[in-house]
Amino acid sequence: ITPGEQALGLIVCHYGQQLDVEPLEGSKQGELLRCHQRSNLPPLVTGDKVIWQPDGEHTGVIVAQQPRHTVMSRPNNRGQLRPIAANVDVVVVVIAPVPEPFGNLIDRYLVAIEEQQLRALILLNKADLVPADGDDKLSQLLERYRKIGYETLTLSSHSGQGIGQLKERLLSRTAVFVGQSGVGKSSLINSLRGSDTDEFMAAVGDLSVGHEKGTHTTTATRLYHLPGSGDLIDSPGIREFGLWHIEPEELAHGFIEFRPFLGQCRFRDCRHTEEPGCALRAAAANGEIDESRLASYRQILLSLDSER
Ligand code: GDP
Ligand code: ZN
Repeated sequence: ITPGEQALGLIVCHYGQQLDVEPLEGSKQGELLRCHQRSNLPPLVTGDKVIWQPDGEHTGVIVAQQPRHTVMSRPNNRGQLRPIAANVDVVVVVIAPVPEPFGNLIDRYLVAIEEQQLRALILLNKADLVPADGDDKLSQLLERYRKIGYETLTLSSHSGQGIGQLKERLLSRTAVFVGQSGVGKSSLINSLRGSDTDEFMAAVGDLSVGHEKGTHTTTATRLYHLPGSGDLIDSPGIREFGLWHIEPEELAHGFIEFRPFLGQCRFRDCRHTEEPGCALRAAAANGEIDESRLASYRQILLSLDSER
C-alpha cells in the first residue's frame, strides 16, 4: 500500500481514541496499524470493518466505516447508549451451577440481547459439577430455553467436555461471552484461544503493553482470532453487558415466545399483569407459554418501574 492508497481493515483493539487496525487486504496484511479516525465518522469500535489509509510506517487514518450487521451497546457513565462492539454474531450467556444464576438473570440477558437484535447461545459451564443424566435444575432450565428456540450447550472448561462442540458452533462467527463473575468466562476464553497464542495476537498484546500503561490494557476491547476459524471480542465492558434500560412496552418483545400473543390482549396497553382478557395469561394457563417466564417478565417490569 502506497501513501494515499486505501484498503479494507478490521478494528481489533479499541481503547479511548486508539484504534488498532488489522489490514484485510494489500501489502500490510499480517501487520497491525495504530490508527485514528477522521472526526466526521461516528464512534468506531472493535469489530468494525473500515477503510483506512497509511500515514506512516505503522500508523494510519480511518477514512470510512463499512456497514455493520449488528451493534452491541451499553450505556456510558452519563447513561447514553454507546456501541461497544460491532458485527457480533452471537452473545454467549454463560451460566454455571456455582455461582447459581439468580432468579431471572438469564431472562434479563435475553431481553437485552433481543432488544439489540443480537443472537444468544446459552452455555452451561462446569458440567463436571452437574449429574451427567441431565436430571438437575440447571439442565432442565437449559432444556426449557432450547424448546423456546435458543441455542444451548453444556460443557466444562475444566474437563474439556463439550469444548469441541463450542468451537464448531463458533466457526466463522464473532462471539462475545457474558455472564456473572465466577461462571468461568476467562477459563472458557483461554481454552478456546489455546496455549499457542498466535503471533498476531502477541503483536496486539505488545502494542497495547508497549504504548499504554496500567488500566488501558485491561479496559481495551480486543478481538481475538480463534485457532481454526471464528473470532472472539472481549473486554470488561462487554462482560458487564446486561439489561440497563428498556421501555416497559418493549419488554414483552424480549420474550420471544410471547410475540405471537402480543396484540391479542383485550386492552392495547395491557401490561400482562392483572388485566382481564390478557392473551399472555391465557397462554400461560393452557401451557402454551411457560408460567415461570411470565412471572419473570412481571418481575423485570416491576424492577423497570422502580428504576424510573
Ligand atoms: P469468570 O469470572 O467468569 O471469568 O470465571 P473464571 O474463569 O475466573 O472461573 C471462576 C472459577 O471457576 C475459577 O476458580 C475456575 O477455576 C472455575 N471454573 C471454571 N471453569 C470450570 C469448570 O468447567 N468446572 C469447574 N468445576 N470449575 C470451573
Ligand atoms: Zn396482556
